[in-house]
Amino acid sequence: MNPFATAPTPLRCVLIANRGEIAVRVMRTCRRLGVTTVAVFSEADRDALHVREADRSAFIGAGPATANYLDARTVIEAAIASGADAIHPGYGFLSENAGFAEACETAGIRFIGPSARAIEIMGSKIEAKRIAAELGIPTVPGFDGSNASVEDFAREAARIGYPVLIKASAGGGGRGMRRVDRPEAFASAHADAAQEAAAAFGDATLLLEKLIGSPRHIEVQLFGDTHGNLVHLYDRDCSVQRNNQKVLEEAPAPNLSPATRRKLHDHALRLGNAIGYHSAGTVEFILGTGSDEPYFLEMNTRLQVEHPVTEEVCGVDLVEWQLRVAAGLPLPLRQDEIRLKGHAIEARLAAEQPAEGFLPSIGTVLALTPPSHARFDSGIAAGSQIGTLYDSMLGKVISHGASRAAAREGLTTGLEELAVLGVRCNQRFLADCIAAPAFAEGMATTGFLEQTFPGGWRPDRLLLLEARAWAALAWSRTAQDSPWLRQDGFRVTGHGRPATLRLHVEDAFGAADLEFRIGRDGILAQCGEDRVRISSDPDIASLPAKAGAPALCRDGGAIAISHRGLGLTVLVARKARSHAASSAAAQGTGSLTAPLPGLVTGVLASVGQKLSAGDVVVTMEAMKLVHSLTAPFDGVVTRIHRAQGEVVPAKALILEMEEE
Ligand code: ADP
Ligand code: ADP
Ligand code: MG
Repeated sequence: MNPFATAPTPLRCVLIANRGEIAVRVMRTCRRLGVTTVAVFSEADRDALHVREADRSAFIGAGPATANYLDARTVIEAAIASGADAIHPGYGFLSENAGFAEACETAGIRFIGPSARAIEIMGSKIEAKRIAAELGIPTVPGFDGSNASVEDFAREAARIGYPVLIKASAGGGGRGMRRVDRPEAFASAHADAAQEAAAAFGDATLLLEKLIGSPRHIEVQLFGDTHGNLVHLYDRDCSVQRNNQKVLEEAPAPNLSPATRRKLHDHALRLGNAIGYHSAGTVEFILGTGSDEPYFLEMNTRLQVEHPVTEEVCGVDLVEWQLRVAAGLPLPLRQDEIRLKGHAIEARLAAEQPAEGFLPSIGTVLALTPPSHARFDSGIAAGSQIGTLYDSMLGKVISHGASRAAAREGLTTGLEELAVLGVRCNQRFLADCIAAPAFAEGMATTGFLEQTFPGGWRPDRLLLLEARAWAALAWSRTAQDSPWLRQDGFRVTGHGRPATLRLHVEDAFGAADLEFRIGRDGILAQCGEDRVRISSDPDIASLPAKAGAPALCRDGGAIAISHRGLGLTVLVARKARSHAASSAAAQGTGSLTAPLPGLVTGVLASVGQKLSAGDVVVTMEAMKLVHSLTAPFDGVVTRIHRAQGEVVPAKALILEMEEE
């Protein structure tokens, strides 16, 4: 059944030297084709999805990636021990390490990728640009003085004209780059870039380029075999970037003249042919605003993160092609047989908080609902631990449609359907990017995010209110001190007179007092001037079954919710006597207890101190959120049990007070 079992180089068993979404992605194709898979894993990844998806798995060491996923010898030994015929490197890690590719072949293990020589040549941006220029492919004006002094560099910068970009020749992933706007800033930027390059890539070689203002990033997918065939699979636009890292990617690139598109494909093929390229590779270009002359940037000698958009529009499986080529078989299609069908867009799902300067988030995925209308390539499942050892990219949502508008719509739906509870992710931010006019029109440049969200991104106010309202209602149905469970006969059935419910919520976006009106016209939630209708039916018990009800679950004493792509962890409390009160303070007992396990960051009162209801008495940090515990009534502090700096378990008694 395995089509490669009898190929010139048989592939029966492949070790995937990677983790996360790309490892899972490669395994999917292997499984479909009957190729046995071997996962490798670090200590932190013992229970990771890619390990569970593999037929076999090998532990390759604890600690940071340098001690396992980046350790060439250990990975190759694992391949030999597990009987693998080949290694698929994925992207990142060892994928662009020529020494690793060579060591694989020396050990008799096929490296699924291009030749070590191609990796070596293209791994140097300086060398790659030199070859491109020799072939008559335009490159960004700059200076490639490998061994030049900082003075030489500064002189060249003045000649090229500011602003300039200093780059690491061995760079990748947007690292080792420094924009310099003035000559006075050059020397220190040069030193910083050299240091970052040495630390990240073990090579401090720098190059200089003219900074092209807000260009578009356009790239061409190449594929070659070992029989001398080389084809392109059209182009992708990856202009929406943050810190020179891609955020949204699509195929084909929109709004390109046929002449420019032809130029891009021709340049890429010329370069690939010149170095006898085989396997998957991507040639990257930038295109200045209003220009139809693409400049060559670099070549990535591996499968790209954004390869799925090309797969969708070309109807091919690029991992299968990689396996075929590694098995010594020719490409399955000729250039004239590769046709474009529709449009595809991909969004990178990351464990990060766009509203807080894109701070990475960590935690445990409590529940995961994949999108039902879009492709979802991910490395996570319920129970996955998101830590700080690896990249914050958790997966990708990919939508394919007959037109660009259809692909955009499908991606928005996919991002809104996808719910990751327990770890804060960037879906809503991604959906808002897709909705922005510049992207909608296919006119985004690398300046897109700054232009679209000049003051940073915040979720839409009404959407935030909706999410909080759903969380608060869910809490009120299940919480110990839920008003619905009170013994005083408080009931809302829809038949009686309208009822009002006041709840206080706190989450990463701040605190708010919500007022619910529940009556014949349904459930309305109000916060200040903002008002949303949660349901047209007043029966709260039926809410979870409603179409459009968000995914939610308990997270300690809080509610984790994902509403149309907006993920939150919300603490809810009954509002005591119309004053704000946290869940701990809301017991009405005068005992302030920790709502979640966490750190006491401040005790703002002393014994004997008089407080008014709603005064903030204790601040805590739990699950990376700041919580404030407030006085539930006017009274006096009688005892303080915990001090600032203490780590306390959930429900720990922190402070007691007495009514005056
Ligand atoms: P692509 O061009 O495929 O979008 P990126 O530049 O975004 O690639 O990088 C792909 C992945 O590889 C990212 O997860 C990135 O963090 C990682 N990566 C890129 N360069 C390196 C490197 N030199 N070492 C380790 N990981 C890298
Ligand atoms: P990496 O190896 O980190 O991917 P690239 O050379 O591909 O480095 O550049 C990454 C991104 O940085 C590009 O997609 C583009 O947005 C930006 N960039 C690179 N070179 C220039 C330049 N000369 N002018 C403006 N932007 C650039
Ligand atoms: Mg690049």
